[in-house]
Amino acid sequence: MSFRRDQITRRIFNWAQTALPSLSKTESEAIAAGDVHFEAELFAGNPDWSMLRDIPAPTLTADERAFIDGPCRDFCNMLDTWQIDRHAADLPPEAWDFLREKGFFGMIIPKEHGGLGFSAFAHSEVVRYISSHSVVGAVTVMVPNSLGPGELILQFGTEAQKSHWLPRLARGEELPAFGLTSEQAGSDASAMIDDGVICKGAWQGEEVLGIRLNWAKRYITLAPVSTVLGLAFKLRDPDGLLGDNPEPGITCALVPTDLPGVVTGRRHMPSGTMFMNGPTEGHDVFIPLENIIGGPDYAGKGWMMLMSALAAGRGISLPSLSAAATALSAHSTGAYARIRTQFNLPIGLFGGVQEPLARIAANAYAIDSGRRLTTAILDQGKKLAVISAIMKYHATERMRASVNDAMDVHSGKAVIDGPLNYLQPAYRAIPIGITVEGANIVTRNLIIFGQGAIRAHPYLLDEMTALQNEDRDKALDDFDRLFWGHVGHSTKNAFRAFGSSLTGKGRAPENAGKVRDLYGRLARWSSAFAMTADLAFLTLGGALKRKEMISARLGDALSEMFLVAAVLKRWEDDGRNEADLPLVRYAAETSFQSIGRALEATIDNFPATWARWLLRLMTRPGAHSRGPSDDLTEKVAMLAYQPSETRNRLVSGLHPPAPESGLGLLETAYRLVLDTEPLRKRLRDLKKSPADAKAAGVLSDAEMARLQEAEAAVQRVVAVDDFTPEALSDLFPGTTTDPRPDHREAAE
Ligand SMILES: Cc1cc2nc3c(=O)[nH]c(=O)nc-3n(C[C@H](O)[C@H](O)[C@H](O)COP(=O)(O)OP(=O)(O)OC[C@H]3O[C@@H](n4cnc5c(N)ncnc54)[C@H](O)[C@@H]3O)c2cc1C
Repeated sequence: MSFRRDQITRRIFNWAQTALPSLSKTESEAIAAGDVHFEAELFAGNPDWSMLRDIPAPTLTADERAFIDGPCRDFCNMLDTWQIDRHAADLPPEAWDFLREKGFFGMIIPKEHGGLGFSAFAHSEVVRYISSHSVVGAVTVMVPNSLGPGELILQFGTEAQKSHWLPRLARGEELPAFGLTSEQAGSDASAMIDDGVICKGAWQGEEVLGIRLNWAKRYITLAPVSTVLGLAFKLRDPDGLLGDNPEPGITCALVPTDLPGVVTGRRHMPSGTMFMNGPTEGHDVFIPLENIIGGPDYAGKGWMMLMSALAAGRGISLPSLSAAATALSAHSTGAYARIRTQFNLPIGLFGGVQEPLARIAANAYAIDSGRRLTTAILDQGKKLAVISAIMKYHATERMRASVNDAMDVHSGKAVIDGPLNYLQPAYRAIPIGITVEGANIVTRNLIIFGQGAIRAHPYLLDEMTALQNEDRDKALDDFDRLFWGHVGHSTKNAFRAFGSSLTGKGRAPENAGKVRDLYGRLARWSSAFAMTADLAFLTLGGALKRKEMISARLGDALSEMFLVAAVLKRWEDDGRNEADLPLVRYAAETSFQSIGRALEATIDNFPATWARWLLRLMTRPGAHSRGPSDDLTEKVAMLAYQPSETRNRLVSGLHPPAPESGLGLLETAYRLVLDTEPLRKRLRDLKKSPADAKAAGVLSDAEMARLQEAEAAVQRVVAVDDFTPEALSDLFPGTTTDPRPDHREAAE
């Protein structure tokens, strides 16, 4: 028995047992269901750069490449967004058939079960490609490949379930939907009252042990057309037919929608984006026990299963959609800022327009970098609970900011809806992305740091587990070892945080080339963050869970650090393109600024005065976080404004727009305006209008024609859609053609 253990650790142990939150069995299972990766390095304050740099750059196999160049392109060519959202309220039937035939619904299902067996990166590339053309098409493809029966059966299904369901799902013979959300239970899904009772019932002519289900779910994507629901409900066993636990709790089961009592078919209209989404109800629906995903052994394990399945899908679906929307916003806004003139200048030359343009371009680069890094790690077989939540939140928030910036720059052109408006579909999709797969506020305030901290901290989870050990002696032994390890780690980190807060630099890797300083600055913030997080645990303990504003800011700092790491990694993977450096620097500078602000506000709101004082002294959160300079902002804006390989790279791997579509017309106008720039420069130098220059013989007929062609192309883009009253009444049946009394009489 050591003095330290018995006299010091014991007291701290007793204090920690009351101060730290205890973990329920469900919470522990859910936490164990997710892995951590490089975010844990950032959390620990001294990142091991080799871990980041050794992750192989994500690539596509020949089959995956061919799938994008072939079936994905053909699928997109079948879809007309205006027609889908404003007339048909659905994909064309042949597009549904095509999706089934080509295996789109089985991207994540391994080849041995009849699926395409794509990597996480390929899956993400497919969703990103389709999203660049059609949100409805993308959502329809993404849902069966994300959280739902496919993923749940893959991870937890019995062999019988795998061999029965996976080939049918892969071929699209079964169309799945995933039913978790109900009226009472949104973000707090565990509060659901959807109910399953263990009982005997008739199944295929025999009496078997099963579950009688009653549910009322809403917002369920694909529910109106689904053939099988992956249903989450609370299982009860009042008569003890399954075992001695009367309330096993949340359970996931497969419910064919043709069973008596299942109601599907009614539809919601999600933000005018007409993918299949609607409510579903079940009234005394009976299923056998083997329909529990994973079989009866998995009764009551639904929450852990959901957390585990979410860890993959959340890192792919919405980040990929957001990456596409943001890249298109950057590309199109750069082009529009080049062709639209006001006050005799292209609007992209005004500093006021360059600011949003730079933000959008850097967001596009950063989100895509995060997406690439996340999928590369997922492809190493990790279940990324924290990183997936970071990506879900930040990709959709940056999409929201970028599409709004793009709308501002396009102004009236973006406001007027119609087939030529290429921003409206993304604009309408924003609230959907923000809300689904964990609404963003709760994701930021509760999940990223609140749950992530327990997973990513080098000691916390082990300490909490030790505290809960019923064998007090063993608990104290473990806690003694962990706690003093923690103290040593924190002390070293505090010195590191102080040193690097003075120099502005931490440890950077060898051979980091022109971004060595950015690695060093990221390391500086990592140690400042680690020290702040540690003091938050120490001073707030279990109360940190309820201090959502503090938790959210710490989550912001962790997330921004992850995005900077992703940007640095992307630059490396892309072969250190010199031309992309302004994007890298701008993205890093904005993140460093956000980290500084987040830590500053966290420290300002610490309840303990001594902790505020100590952290300000040791981490200096206000230093080294100025944000991008005006020069850098202009450089980045010009990368989106002028033609360049960097600009092309932003949209590489996206669906090429049809020539007569809004985006196609924009690309043509952009090219013609750039081609004719030397002519316009000549006119400016001569101070002549085209007509005067032609009359003076300094502009040829052919040159005049080129200028006119470019001008006409610009006018086609700047023009917006308008509709005759008759065409509008087609969209809105019952529309009055013209309410003015004399016109109304004339019409009658
Ligand atoms: C188009 C669409 C498709 C969907 N598809 C599916 C599907 O296929 N399957 C499915 O099961 N569900 C689906 N959903 C449901 C979706 O997951 C929920 O809408 C989401 O979980 C939020 O629930 P809620 O809308 O009831 O909001 P609420 O839970 O009522 O939340 C309201 C607000 O409070 C915030 N909030 C809640 N709790 C906290 C907290 N502790 N701290 C801070 N903020 C908090 C939330 O972030 C939100 O901003 C879909 C929803 C939509 C709109």
